[in-house]
Amino acid sequence: MKILVAVKRVVDYNVKVRPKSDGSGVDLANVKMAINPFCEIAVEEAIRLKEKGIATEIVAVSVGDKSSQEQIRTALALGADRGILVETSEELQPLAIAKLLKAVVDKEQPQIVILGKQSIDGDNNQTGQMLAALTGYAQGTFASQITVEGDSASVIREVDGGLQTLTLKLPLILTTDLRLNEPRYASLPNIMKAKKKQLDTFTPAELGVDAAPRVKTIKVEPPAERKAGIKVATVADLVEKLKNEAKVI
Ligand code: AMP
Repeated sequence: MKILVAVKRVVDYNVKVRPKSDGSGVDLANVKMAINPFCEIAVEEAIRLKEKGIATEIVAVSVGDKSSQEQIRTALALGADRGILVETSEELQPLAIAKLLKAVVDKEQPQIVILGKQSIDGDNNQTGQMLAALTGYAQGTFASQITVEGDSASVIREVDGGLQTLTLKLPLILTTDLRLNEPRYASLPNIMKAKKKQLDTFTPAELGVDAAPRVKTIKVEPPAERKAGIKVATVADLVEKLKNEAKVI
């Protein structure tokens, strides 16, 4: 079976992001970019399903400008077989991305689509659910364990206060939680091989999708700075300050 994996290019999780001075967005100039960590987990899960003999082909898809090719190449180096870039420099929002992914699903007819549960830049946590609604496929979100057997899959989900187990019929949409697996690193030979793997590019117009944004960002600002703390010498000092300065006891 074919598995489609959605990978997003985001600011590397080690980078401390800064808003632009005019508050119109995040400053991306000279910032290290990477594959979204939850998408890396999605790629790893697809590779494991291929290693188990369940998947036969893994297609990595990204929506974004030309530079998103880098993240597709990373997925190819990790073990995906081919890539698709939906190329656009338009500001992208989850509904537009879900519509574009739906067009790719229609073209590719995968049995399983794996996405991250959340992109760490926008923290939207929407795309997988919207894609499930648009395709009409079953959905297993926040998966921490996936077992595929025949034409169904058992998915353990992390929910408030515990775990939920679902049995879902294929084709289905999965979104990955942090505990699903620990992604591997790409080896140098595989990074070299990935450069030769097939990567097709489509525009939203070629897929018949209007990707125009519907939500306007009004302002992006950093959280309020916290006041520096102090060290107290004794417990008595602490009690005195809590009583007379902070007035909390
Ligand atoms: P979000 O709904 O933005 O939190 O994203 C959830 C997941 O949807 C990500 O982890 C990706 O798997 C997928 N996704 C979101 N944006 C893109 C994109 N531009 N290209 C490919 N996949 C995406």
